[in-house]
Amino acid sequence: MIDQATRSRRLDALRRRMDETGCELTALAPSDNLRYVIGFSPKADERACMLLVGAGGTSFVMPGLNAEQTSAEAPELELVRWSDDAGPSEALRTALERVGGGRAVRIAVDPEMRADHLLLLQQAVPEAEAVPATTVVGPLREAKSAEEIAVLQTAAAAADEAMTAAFSACRPGATELDVADAVASAFRRAGAEEVLFAIVGAGSNGAFPHHHTSSRRLEEGDAIVIDIGARSGGYVSDITRMAYLGDPSDRYFEVHAVVEAAVRAAMAAAGPGTTCHEVDAAARGVIEDAGYGEYFVHRCGHGLGLSVHEPPWIMGGNDTTLRAGMVHSIEPGIYLPGEFGIRLEEIVQVTDDGCRRFSRLPRDVHVFDPASRGVPTTSNEREGVRT
Ligand code: ZN
Ligand code: ZN
Repeated sequence: MIDQATRSRRLDALRRRMDETGCELTALAPSDNLRYVIGFSPKADERACMLLVGAGGTSFVMPGLNAEQTSAEAPELELVRWSDDAGPSEALRTALERVGGGRAVRIAVDPEMRADHLLLLQQAVPEAEAVPATTVVGPLREAKSAEEIAVLQTAAAAADEAMTAAFSACRPGATELDVADAVASAFRRAGAEEVLFAIVGAGSNGAFPHHHTSSRRLEEGDAIVIDIGARSGGYVSDITRMAYLGDPSDRYFEVHAVVEAAVRAAMAAAGPGTTCHEVDAAARGVIEDAGYGEYFVHRCGHGLGLSVHEPPWIMGGNDTTLRAGMVHSIEPGIYLPGEFGIRLEEIVQVTDDGCRRFSRLPRDVHVFDPASRGVPTTSNEREGVRT
């Protein structure tokens, strides 16, 4: 939640961006864009709910049943209510009139707006060109304030606890879903309000970057990719680490070391003035030089804040320059089909002279030795390396 002063500051900043980009109207649906601008997002469903921002003002097309709650959260926002039996068309026309949006030539539309609601808007303003609202809201969300950074740090601390719980749950006989359950419980204990995802990919499943966590049982010899995230205080976390049941092979350690070197290279590159392309290239170069280039099948990272995936996109060809306060992931991976996958993911904040990571967990593979039934160790401990 944000207060009224912050809301009005963000609406002013949005109007300035609209001026710069030639958009006379912005239409936001329930989404993280809306959450950013006004501090909350009404329930998204088939009922048209749209915040219209024009030069003339702001008006909220609001399904009647959500109106009271919205007024309680933001009493200063003007609502145009509609009822289920009347439908939204008249309310939309009224709201457009009030903000001076009826003659808009260019409308910035929330990319998460449902198609049927966009069709309503297009019928009401048939001549207007619709462009993604990311153009106007995206840049406002990229560089985080000190308050936002503090919340992201808290969210990351919860993710560290959840990852530690995942490591403890990785035992022979447990299923991938059992590990995901342990993650969810740990997130709840750490105060998260919503567990967003828990990708647990064991053995060859780990070679699918976005594996659907399944009832597959973990067994000795499995490398396990664990990629988890939750929402805490409105902001999200995202972290990937590796676990192993049994003795990792030399090949596993070799590939792990390549991914680790790629993370370090990208972290060394990330900083104010560096382009997103350069950060991606730093990680990709390490992996290509080691001969695994064709197995690094995705971009190096993404921005993170209210959404798990948001600009800036850390990828080849993106010449966006990083600025202090931006927060993004660095998550190179190598996926060997039929064998295993390795991804290591840090969330970093761009600082005045480089970047710093939020997580306090080491990136070593967390090894569980089924034979000893003893305390699992990390690879670095095994090798006597200090981090
Ligand atoms: Zn990520
Ligand atoms: Zn992730």
